[in-house]
Amino acid sequence: MSPSVVLLILTALTNCLMLAVLGSLARSGIRGIREAIRGALLVFVSLVGFAAQAALPPILGIVLANFLMATGVAYFYAAVLLFFGRKVPYRLLVAGVAATTLGIVLFWYVWRDTDARILIVSILHSVLMGATALAIQRERPRHRPVYPYGFALAVAWFEAIGHAVRGVVYGIRWEVMPELSVDTPLHMVFLSIGVLVVPSLTLGMVMMVHDRMLEERESEANTDSLTGMLARKAWWLLADKTLVRAQRADQRLSLLMLDIDHFKDVNDTHGHALGDAVLKQFGKLAVTALRQEDIVGRLGGEEFAALFPGTRIDAAAFATNRLLDAVRGAPCTHGEGVIPYTFSGGLVEWDGEETLEALVQRADRALYAAKLDGRDRVVVVR
Ligand code: GH3
Ligand code: MG
Ligand code: MG
Repeated sequence: MSPSVVLLILTALTNCLMLAVLGSLARSGIRGIREAIRGALLVFVSLVGFAAQAALPPILGIVLANFLMATGVAYFYAAVLLFFGRKVPYRLLVAGVAATTLGIVLFWYVWRDTDARILIVSILHSVLMGATALAIQRERPRHRPVYPYGFALAVAWFEAIGHAVRGVVYGIRWEVMPELSVDTPLHMVFLSIGVLVVPSLTLGMVMMVHDRMLEERESEANTDSLTGMLARKAWWLLADKTLVRAQRADQRLSLLMLDIDHFKDVNDTHGHALGDAVLKQFGKLAVTALRQEDIVGRLGGEEFAALFPGTRIDAAAFATNRLLDAVRGAPCTHGEGVIPYTFSGGLVEWDGEETLEALVQRADRALYAAKLDGRDRVVVVR
């Protein structure tokens, strides 16, 4: 068995292992996995075909094996695009694979020329890997760890450049190959680079999918499912970080604690489900009435907190009044029923030194004062 055949068999087996890992993620519902599995399967069959080339008729060992490899790599590019929620240019991909396959047929049956076949295959692979790399580079989420995306990116660029160099070497006929089965050192180097692409890219895809799953779970844990706001723990963490940052930058910030009035009565009168509808609607109003950079969370039950970074108390009071008016002007509607509700709030400005706990306590006291004062109002502590 020649070294290149051993290499092809080993890569096919590695690919099989990668397929098993990808298969375990098939039910995650993350886009692009199905295409990556199809790609890896096609490449596996193609690698077996290349390994058995000497024993197969050329239509299988050369034409079909190259066609499957090109389709597999194209599927991989599609998988990465879908993973990032981008559209796949299927027509362009089909045209690219068809042109490559046609080239293989021509340079085998009409003008037998191994270098020309290597050149056209290298062009396709280089373009597909370059496009994959660009997609990852452009779309990788900046707020996530760099490693998984960096790995996939590095593999894609390495392959794009490797294939480009291979294309140039055979395009200018630096090395003239009589047959593909001849194991020249240069050919072995390029073969190693080329066959490693799909197992390595599959590994990169697995890493990216894992990170996406982690991101989804983190977001679930941090989000209150009813209102879509930050949940208590996530709000505290973010508020704490914001306080530290404000201290460093010598910035001001204000905090509003609020609580829906007589919410027990809403539940008792209209039922728990409509109580939930009120909370949900309040969540929507708060998102529209406050700014995007304001940190709004549901601390529990019908209690909410809004931290206004970089905001003095007067500006925060203005925003809070906007929210009061929004709630007064838009009672919760559910089916036929209309449920008017109000909230009370306590607004304080951070003194630049106190802890988050102390700040929250002061805002809570102001909120309590607003309740005593008759509700449907905000007590602003200047
Ligand atoms: P106040 O004006 O003094 O705030 O009176 P209140 O009735 O709003 O306050 P209280 O703390 O007595 O009651 C809060 C109620 O909120 C009791 C609880 O059943 C209800 N509640 C807490 N969480 C939820 C929830 O997720 N959904 C619904 N529907 N009700 C909830
Ligand atoms: Mg309460
Ligand atoms: Mg209440």
